[in-house]
Amino acid sequence: MITSSSSSATTIPEILRGEGLPVFEAITPEAVSRHIPELMAELNAELSALEQKLEHSFNSGSTLSWSAVMDPLQRLGERLRWSWGVVSHLNGVCNSPELREAHAAQQAVVVQFGNRAGQSQLIYRALKHLEAHQDQLDAAQQRILAAELRDMQLRGVGLSGAEQEAFNAASQELAELSTRFGNQVLDATNGWTLTLSQAGDVDGLPASLLDQLAQAARQSSDAEATAENGPWLLGLDMPRYAPFLKYSRRRDLREQVYRAHVSRASGKAGSELNNWPLIERILTLRREQARRLGYANWAEVSLAAKMADSESAVEALLEELRAAAYPVAKAELQALAECARRHGAPEADDLQPWDVSFWAEKLRQESFELDSEALRPYFPLPRVLEGLFGLCERLFGITIAAADDEAPLWHPDVRFFRILDNGQPLAGFYLDPYSRPGSKRGGAWMDECLVRSRSADGTAVLPVAYLICNQSPPVGDTPSLMTFEEVETLFHEFGHGLQHMLTTVDRPQAAGINGVEWDAVELPSQFMENWCYDRATLMGMARHWQSGEPMPEQEFRKLLAARTFMGGAATLRQVHFAMVDLRLHSQWHPGCSQTPEQLRREIAEGTTVLAPIDDDAFLCSFGHIFAGGYAAGYYSYKWAEVLSADAFSAFEEVGLENEAQIRETGRRFRDTVLSLGGSLDPKQVFEAFRGRQPSSEALIRHSGLVAV
Ligand code: ZN
Repeated sequence: MITSSSSSATTIPEILRGEGLPVFEAITPEAVSRHIPELMAELNAELSALEQKLEHSFNSGSTLSWSAVMDPLQRLGERLRWSWGVVSHLNGVCNSPELREAHAAQQAVVVQFGNRAGQSQLIYRALKHLEAHQDQLDAAQQRILAAELRDMQLRGVGLSGAEQEAFNAASQELAELSTRFGNQVLDATNGWTLTLSQAGDVDGLPASLLDQLAQAARQSSDAEATAENGPWLLGLDMPRYAPFLKYSRRRDLREQVYRAHVSRASGKAGSELNNWPLIERILTLRREQARRLGYANWAEVSLAAKMADSESAVEALLEELRAAAYPVAKAELQALAECARRHGAPEADDLQPWDVSFWAEKLRQESFELDSEALRPYFPLPRVLEGLFGLCERLFGITIAAADDEAPLWHPDVRFFRILDNGQPLAGFYLDPYSRPGSKRGGAWMDECLVRSRSADGTAVLPVAYLICNQSPPVGDTPSLMTFEEVETLFHEFGHGLQHMLTTVDRPQAAGINGVEWDAVELPSQFMENWCYDRATLMGMARHWQSGEPMPEQEFRKLLAARTFMGGAATLRQVHFAMVDLRLHSQWHPGCSQTPEQLRREIAEGTTVLAPIDDDAFLCSFGHIFAGGYAAGYYSYKWAEVLSADAFSAFEEVGLENEAQIRETGRRFRDTVLSLGGSLDPKQVFEAFRGRQPSSEALIRHSGLVAV
């Protein structure tokens, strides 16, 4: 049973209840400001008490058990996760200035607690003690312990004296450099604008973009600007930059905006916004940190916590993808040139980077006439959910039933569902499907509400997920009509949700997505996306919301063809980024004879079909690795895609029309990938499903990179 919210009869404030489904309306900004400090004080005191107990055990020479160390630690973490998790959740879906402020005011003390627990010498010593007696632990416990020790070691807990001081100082500096790097990219992006005032300047731009550009002009200075008459203000942010390159018929303007974009934050023309020195400093510091931790370089640190065994394993995969994508990308560029030639464009013999988006869009329109808006009537949300739930029933043998009145909700749009297994409750999830500008963060995500575990009295706590999307809301009697991309997004997030909800692991540190290596965590989500291209699944659910007519067959074929359009270029681009990231963090060091930029350009020779122009300073805006968490981990995108494509190919192999085999394979997927969570090495989990180690063959095929 999912713990009911009404069961607590005590006077504990809701925000501190720490178990069961939250009563969202009680989690107010006032409750956050009042009770989170209370909680943090309690948790800090309990952590101190635990440390004292451990110290006492060390002094008295008594042995430590799992239940004396890991269980109390887990309970402390869970209390924080439950309370702070629901605050963060509401901050994302029901934002208000008051809540945002209350959340921001408590953030530092929450982070501090995490740092304190993660760097506690006494806890580290206790974990080492458990490790020395790990023959008494089961396989899942051993993996949980190993991950915990590794994370603490990577935080520098194993260092002492001057070495630890240097480590902490460098960590601090790295955090500051990352923030500065990100801010400079942002400032450089916002600092460039171009006012277009002649009708000829906006030749080719669609109405929606003209709207946006006029709105930008109004916001900046010109209150009179209109979409029809301008002026229009261009900028380097993606919502304006990407469609401009795609649609503008003015090649000179495309070049101008492209050059500005690729040279952001590179100190060009004497700009103070210069990330070059930051890049070298960050790479140098990371290398030093790696050495202090006993690794040769930062790539080794990153890979210590991932599924990929070694740099050479990642390199080998990237080379397989590169070799497959390169000739295809070359042919694609050729096809763009031919398209330009057919249109009599002078650049046909001299395509430049600022021409690629434009001609790709032309060719795409000519080849598919795919109008993503026109498909919306075939994807009303209720039908799509029926299709998704039906698929899960078929593949995994579960039933999904609406249970809206069984859980408090945070907004009238939100739905609550239960997952049943042979009629027995197994899990639950909230679905918050529609965009609510102003109060809900953009994008889509899955988050944990409750994690599968056993409560102190041994009863099962069933997992509950938050599934959040941002699709168009219903209007009047018209249901939410989805684009195909929105359907894919829903399937994607549901895949994360399935791993969270169908887990059979009772230890929360390894249940669901917990303890799953970063480069493997997108396996179930991307796996589910594949079903959007499966004829039976898609044609089964895509019906006109009024007439009930199925989606025309030719539209299905267009969707299939569009999936691999420019697939060579897309793959090559990701391979380029991943290789640059990896080698900067393994090969580059201050004494090597190259600058980071020279290393990047060397890699570009084999990973781009149009060499970067001289102005191209892409590294200066590569926020993923210099301002985000992707350092020596950018490859994870492709790594996980190999796993998900290969997993899906197990269904292709038995034949997508072969119902009995599909069901059997689906059950096996459930019993391995969706069940085992972080309790087992992801290589073993994959092998348990697939009967062998992953291969990139399916991804290469699905990406349209196989020569025909
Ligand atoms: Zn995802």
